[in-house]
Amino acid sequence: MPERIDAKVLVLGGGPGGYVAAIRAGQQGLPTVLVEADRLGGTCLIRGCIPSKALIHAAAEFAVMRQAAAGASKLGIALKGPPAIDLAHTVGWMDGIVDRLSGGVAALLKRAKVRVVAGWGRFSDAKTCHVGEGEAEIVIRAEQVILAAGSLPVELKDLPFGGPVISSTEALDLAEIPQRLLVVGAGYIGLELGQAFAKLGAKVTVVEALDRILPAFDRALAEPVARALAGAGIETRLETRALGSGGGALLVEDNKGKQARLDADIILVTVGRRPNTAGWGLETMGIDMAGPFIGIDDECRTSMAGVFAIGDVTGEPMLEHRAATQGEMVAEIIAGHRRRFDPAAIPAVCFTDPEIVAAGLSPEEAAAQGIEVLTGVFPLSASGRAWTMEAGAGGGFVRVTARRDDHRLIGAHAVGQGVSELSAEFSLALEMGAVLEDIAGTIHVHPTLSESFHEAALRALGHAIHV
Ligand code: FAD
Repeated sequence: MPERIDAKVLVLGGGPGGYVAAIRAGQQGLPTVLVEADRLGGTCLIRGCIPSKALIHAAAEFAVMRQAAAGASKLGIALKGPPAIDLAHTVGWMDGIVDRLSGGVAALLKRAKVRVVAGWGRFSDAKTCHVGEGEAEIVIRAEQVILAAGSLPVELKDLPFGGPVISSTEALDLAEIPQRLLVVGAGYIGLELGQAFAKLGAKVTVVEALDRILPAFDRALAEPVARALAGAGIETRLETRALGSGGGALLVEDNKGKQARLDADIILVTVGRRPNTAGWGLETMGIDMAGPFIGIDDECRTSMAGVFAIGDVTGEPMLEHRAATQGEMVAEIIAGHRRRFDPAAIPAVCFTDPEIVAAGLSPEEAAAQGIEVLTGVFPLSASGRAWTMEAGAGGGFVRVTARRDDHRLIGAHAVGQGVSELSAEFSLALEMGAVLEDIAGTIHVHPTLSESFHEAALRALGHAIHV
């Protein structure tokens, strides 16, 4: 006989959307079951945000040492011989971080009295989920269901995954540094990993079908990154499509029809992610779709009563903090609170070198919406803190965009080394409805990069001090 569980809340998927929803539901005393087929933590923790940022950190450390060994350190640091890196050891260190954090998620779920059922969930109707087979089968029936099944890498028809053709998942688990790495797709995942491997010593080439890198960010933000790629010897082939691979090479064609064979040990395909909507009985649940995604309203309710969906499976932007925010909100709605998903902005960070932060509207997006704006741009070349971090010369800047009529901030953007940490102040200012005068009137610590936000607001008001 299968084991039967009756729960108030059933969560499918233990990524940042699902585990946050389950913890918050449990905190509120709701009997909650979480079904997860893999380790707890989802794409973000196991094969995404966390291991990729760990690799980026390790690569940056190694690059600094290589520079010193080559006698190119501006800081007067010298190394007698070139540094060595043991990638297996680095990956072991990354795995240790992931294990620790995944174990932490398990402990938090336990403390919230969430029952975790390990295995692949399959729905037979909107409120019934089956895990396991035969004697080991568990059947869970729940009043409220939260779907948090996440996303998967997009595979190109002519470049299927397998052998040397890999996704970001395998790139974070390589046994050795490839001599020649080809990255197909110049979005944030491809460029973050491509730059990291270049710093580790790989010869990296990026192939992108569009006429620019990082199409999700405005051109002004992407330009310093494009310059940094060129400066690091990373070749970027724009308006070029991958046609297929074989014999240790990638066959590409540019927009004029000219074909080329590019030698590659590893071909990393990062052309986007797709919602994970197949193989778990979604079709039995009577839920309306929004294109390839599960359709939701501003409370993350699907078209089926008592079934919610959150995170990557519901659409863009596919980011951890969107999934987690939706998860927390849905658990509170189920507990009877009035909540809506209506953020002033969902900030996005690209952890390239230099980093990019985008929160709210760019001047171009505001113009497209017919909003008259004031903008203020503060170059990091005028920031004392940037120079102390060797980040003054890279063309970085902080930009504010505010409504011309009432000076309310509608966008804050930055590009430069270390600017990712500015995202919190940008979001807070946007969410609190700050006007330029609020930012200008707030004391910012010296010397920090955050002073650049202050100065950008002053500049938008016409009286910047340091530029
Ligand atoms: P997921 O994290 O994908 O979790 C879904 C979970 O559901 C998985 O654990 C899966 O095993 C489980 N599951 C699915 N179906 C079933 C089933 N039928 N039964 C049981 N379990 C099931 N985002 C950021 O905000 N910042 C970053 O820096 C960042 N970097 C990234 C880097 C990389 C390389 C990648 C790939 C992604 C990155 N992301 C980043 C995106 C981020 O990982 C996702 O937005 C986030 O993980 C989405 O959370 P989720 O809960 O919706 O889904």
